[in-house]
Amino acid sequence: MGNYVCANCEEEIKMDPVTDRIICPNCSSRIILKKRPEESNTVKAR
Ligand SMILES: [Zn+2]
Repeated sequence: MGNYVCANCEEEIKMDPVTDRIICPNCSSRIILKKRPEESNTVKAR
């Protein structure tokens, strides 16, 4: 799974394999960070 996170607002972003573009839908930022693959071990308390 290729998940990415916006560097500006930390919004989760999924890369579109069709357009191959990654833009944050929340703040329109193009600065995207790659999520860590070991993230599956993290549990968000919400
Ligand atoms: Zn953002």
